Amino acid sequence: MFAHFDGSGCYLRGVDTQLLDRRAFFIGGRWVTPATSERFGVVSPSTEEVVGHVPLAEPADIDRAVAAAREAFDHGPWPRTPPAERAAVLRRTAALLRERIDDIAWVTATEMGCAISQAPQAQTGMVGPVFDYYADLLGTFELERRVITDDRAGLVVQDAVGVVAAIVPWNAPVTLAAWKVAPALAAGCTVVLKPPPEAPLSGFLVAEALEAAGVPPGVVNVVPGGREAGAHLVRHPGTDKVAFTGSTAAGKQIMTLCADRVTRVSLELGGKSAAIVCDDADLGLAIPRIVGGGMHLSGQVCGAHTRILVARARYDEAVDAAAAVAETIPYGDPFDPKTVVGPLVAERQRARVEGFIEAALAEGARAVAGGARPAHLPRGWYVPPTILADVHNDMRVARDEVFGPVLSFIPFDGEDDAVRIANDSRYGLSGGVWTADPGYGLTVARRMRTGSVAVNGSYPPFPLVPFGGLKESGLGRELGPEGLQAYLEPRSIGVPPSLFGGAA
Ligand code: NAD
Repeated sequence: MFAHFDGSGCYLRGVDTQLLDRRAFFIGGRWVTPATSERFGVVSPSTEEVVGHVPLAEPADIDRAVAAAREAFDHGPWPRTPPAERAAVLRRTAALLRERIDDIAWVTATEMGCAISQAPQAQTGMVGPVFDYYADLLGTFELERRVITDDRAGLVVQDAVGVVAAIVPWNAPVTLAAWKVAPALAAGCTVVLKPPPEAPLSGFLVAEALEAAGVPPGVVNVVPGGREAGAHLVRHPGTDKVAFTGSTAAGKQIMTLCADRVTRVSLELGGKSAAIVCDDADLGLAIPRIVGGGMHLSGQVCGAHTRILVARARYDEAVDAAAAVAETIPYGDPFDPKTVVGPLVAERQRARVEGFIEAALAEGARAVAGGARPAHLPRGWYVPPTILADVHNDMRVARDEVFGPVLSFIPFDGEDDAVRIANDSRYGLSGGVWTADPGYGLTVARRMRTGSVAVNGSYPPFPLVPFGGLKESGLGRELGPEGLQAYLEPRSIGVPPSLFGGAA
């Protein structure tokens, strides 16, 4: 463990600056020199200063990483290693990543601005558990099954899908890498992981843990890079599956590229999720949870509930309560342990979020909290926790993903109206229902066209249950047994029934 926080803001003291200064890619089990000697400056969203340097992948680096993964899949031991041995490697990886939790928190705070206080939820808390979960699942998951009738028999085998291109965004780079790498390894796949240029540093910590855990050479290769590197990886004939998390726009392009070779693809994309606050809801419970959830990671969360639909009779009360909560949320320096909301990841992201707020105000919305750039934070890409009232579902702020600390409050009249507004979106990732009657909440939840819904909660994903989107929020599921199935290809082998003890 290298990172060190002394609580005084002097967070660089005692830190191994190697974590910010990377010169090699992890390919074929070795740290190899990149194709170019140029390095990319990683900019801190809180200071706007260059704080680290990394190589970014050129096509030649991607080619090398895919070749290593291909070799490891076609000729290496990993796909043929017994599941129990693969599980042991996953468990060692989980333990090693747990040992580096402080480093992951510190590095992600540095590269993408996640408040240190929020790191356990967003950046570190699920990483070890996901590797452990897939290790455990290998003990019970049916990788083969025999089928026998009076005159037919067969064996259904589940083989690893092959070389996986795993592409992750900057908002939770290690967590989302774990969601892909852990099930892919459990299945016997090999992986090329491409972290994003906005948050390239934390991927090296994943590589170090996998190396120390004894993952055989070439089984996981880590090459941070930009869009072009990602597109080159997706198009690469050496890959068999693309596992992508990112924007819906990029997901559509990737799906098109995958069509060319009928490459398997799973897409975890954007969202515009609704929380329905029923007229019997306990607002004292609901509003702090809704506002806290919506502001988490400065609102840069795909499954954030950002359209807050409130029964008209409780609307004004809910808006006032939300404004009061938002005004008290500490925001600013992500390294201050009291901070809850840090900066946005990039200047362009702040400009985008401010554009949404301006458009909403021009269309008749009211900012009852936040809304303007904070004067006391002249450096860093900050947007204060913002609550917008009088929003209509046809406003841009309610249609498109903002990916910032902005919640839109919309009134509804009755259950059908609430469900209609909630489902009136091109996205379908997440959602919530708040009510004094959880049984009724479940009824409403069943009517919502989203991959996950929470009754009286924000339902952060956890390893045992699948996560993913309907409609333009994605294709396929991560986590749960479904997340392992995504890296397996079922094959049927017909055999004479006598082989399985049937009639000759
Ligand atoms: P992005 O789509 O710009 O980039 C995501 C990743 O894909 C990065 O590594 C990027 O370099 C790469 N990439 C971009 N275009 C590509 C292309 N054409 N081909 C191959 N690779 C490409 O997204 P972002 O701005 O980094 O992340 C924010 C988005 O991610 C939001 O829309 C958010 O909702 C989404 N997201 C979804 C989930 C989920 O589970 N559904 C989770 C987190 C984030």
